[in-house]
Amino acid sequence: MRSAAPSQTRGSSSRARAGRRSRKPGSGIEGLRQKWSGSKKDKPMNDAAQSREDLLDRLRRSDHVPVLIVGGGINGMGSFRDLSLQGIDCLLVERGDFCSGASRAPSRMIHGGLKYLETGEFRLVRESAQERNRLLANAAHYVRPLEMIIPIYSWFGGTWAAVRKFLRLPARMQQRGALIVKLGLALYDIYGALNRAMPRHRMIRRKDVLREIPDLDPGIRIAASYYDAWITSPERLVVELALDGMAANPGSIALNHLRFDGVEGGRARLVDTMTGEAFLIGCDLMVNAGGAWIDSVNGAAGSSKRMIGGTKGSHLLLDLPAFAETLHGRMMYFEAEGGRICLVSNFMGHALLGSTDIPIEDPDSAVCEDDEVEYLLSAFRRIFPDVPVSRDDIFFSYAGVRPLPANDADDPGAVSRDHSMPELPPEGDRRFPILSLVGGKWTTFRAFSAELTDEVLRRLDMSRKMGTEALPIGGGQGLSQQAAPVERLLTCMIRHHGLTRSRARQLVARYGSRAEGLAAALADGERFLTHLPGFSREEIALVARSELVRHATDFLFGRSSLFLEGPLGFEALQEIVDALAHALDWDAERRISELEHVIGRYRDLHRMEVTPQSGVRPRFVRTVGA
Ligand SMILES: Cc1cc2nc3c(=O)[nH]c(=O)nc-3n(C[C@H](O)[C@H](O)[C@H](O)COP(=O)(O)OP(=O)(O)OC[C@H]3O[C@@H](n4cnc5c(N)ncnc54)[C@H](O)[C@@H]3O)c2cc1C
Repeated sequence: MRSAAPSQTRGSSSRARAGRRSRKPGSGIEGLRQKWSGSKKDKPMNDAAQSREDLLDRLRRSDHVPVLIVGGGINGMGSFRDLSLQGIDCLLVERGDFCSGASRAPSRMIHGGLKYLETGEFRLVRESAQERNRLLANAAHYVRPLEMIIPIYSWFGGTWAAVRKFLRLPARMQQRGALIVKLGLALYDIYGALNRAMPRHRMIRRKDVLREIPDLDPGIRIAASYYDAWITSPERLVVELALDGMAANPGSIALNHLRFDGVEGGRARLVDTMTGEAFLIGCDLMVNAGGAWIDSVNGAAGSSKRMIGGTKGSHLLLDLPAFAETLHGRMMYFEAEGGRICLVSNFMGHALLGSTDIPIEDPDSAVCEDDEVEYLLSAFRRIFPDVPVSRDDIFFSYAGVRPLPANDADDPGAVSRDHSMPELPPEGDRRFPILSLVGGKWTTFRAFSAELTDEVLRRLDMSRKMGTEALPIGGGQGLSQQAAPVERLLTCMIRHHGLTRSRARQLVARYGSRAEGLAAALADGERFLTHLPGFSREEIALVARSELVRHATDFLFGRSSLFLEGPLGFEALQEIVDALAHALDWDAERRISELEHVIGRYRDLHRMEVTPQSGVRPRFVRTVGA
């Protein structure tokens, strides 16, 4: 990346200037229309990323690709990177932005799957624990160890149900007692032993845990502590896989906002959702990584086979900073009514509470509903009875659909989280087979992608050039869980690019070792936003241009964690759209429609209302669709 547009100064004077700039002719969308219609463009920046137009042009010029991947969630993108590394040209198409399905809606745990011990899925636990340890090493910039605390209410509860489950007899686990938790964690330690990265479990006496977490229900008997991991920026990791894949193989292309629309004349029909332009492209093999939409993608390709039985999971982000602080960076892993496991953790100063597990037919309709809000809040009140919490504390809500295999289980929690790769042979007009990536976890995406890649290599009679077991991802390159590599990076950014220590830290937290490239490009100076002083116009522009941003929502929900971190009021959104507009050459009308699109998305998918009057914290909309 080359230098950003030269800016005037750093620090407070630039902020003051930015403040003066932000005085507007009127408030609300109408005021913006007047303001933006006369605005000038920033000096254009050059960067290494290929523009969408270049990528589409390549598509226009080709009529065949060995592998077409439909779906840019973690499983599609993991496969894209692995196949590209083997020298196989792939085209990945994602109808929305990358990572916009289930992969953007997880509990953010990178975990060995403690609860799969109950269903006897030992292979899955072993694989998950191993992949967790690998991600701690390969994506150290976003994946960190996480201490989990299990509050326990009895000594022997759940033992009989566990024995029945182990014997594969019907049973519902609830009120898991100290004995069963202790046994489970001892086994879990054994599975996590390979490449062990974290301490073993320990039991904590009641009085000790209550001293450490004073808001916890005093009715508990004992607690257990063990380690898993969490991911700060799953959405960014998916984009980094796309960039890594394209860098590894210039013949591979990943395109967002391009929908697989069916088959025509034996070839796949793709539609640019930004312009309506259609493309026809043949392939040797199609990989359906459509997650909860796998059946609809296969349906468009002429198959009526049912593979998916998705369940919706919702989360709430609660604005309870004092409570979140008392967790001291730990995640509580506790039982809600009926024995379902819920989680609450401190996510960037807010309490992240999840999740539900409800069968759903149409994944496009997934939004956190009123009864889920009640369920989650009452689960929270059970273990933190003295922490006052209500709907007024909701800062954000999100829902996603797990792409589980089709099933007729009564208890959605009992459906296996393992993955499979069923094949649809060529049929009718469709001359290529389809492999569908059903199920799986965020945690296990690398292993799933490697399985798919090995299968493709076998079909193409090729052998693997390299494995991904120890391959860093994006800004994880050069970093580890140790402090020393980060310190070296910070020193370099401060010394060579003139950044302050706190700004260098901020960039490393956001971009890992990719921050160094950014720092070099930002060295000429930055103009920080008035309402979001942690971001500069130059940083936003660089990310927008080098990380395949097409819409303001791509930046807000996919290249930054701003939607979770906040606070994001109307004024901050307006500044971000303005910065993106300069970088991506949007005219006044486009800016308005982008801003309206962001606000609409907040309202329709997250039940949050952003208006000029809503202040810095969007308001939770009480009735779905209101
Ligand atoms: C509530 C919840 C909590 C979870 N928590 C965790 C957790 O803590 N840890 C963990 O390891 N796992 C977790 N998971 C599981 C994990 O998130 C999913 O298994 C994983 O994200 C699935 O990824 P995917 O790529 O298969 O599907 P998705 O991420 O859903 O990707 C499918 C993509 O296909 C695209 N698509 C659909 N139709 C088309 C089309 N016609 N053309 C082009 N593109 C199309 C969609 O837009 C979507 O982006 C959780 C899941 C949920 C829902």
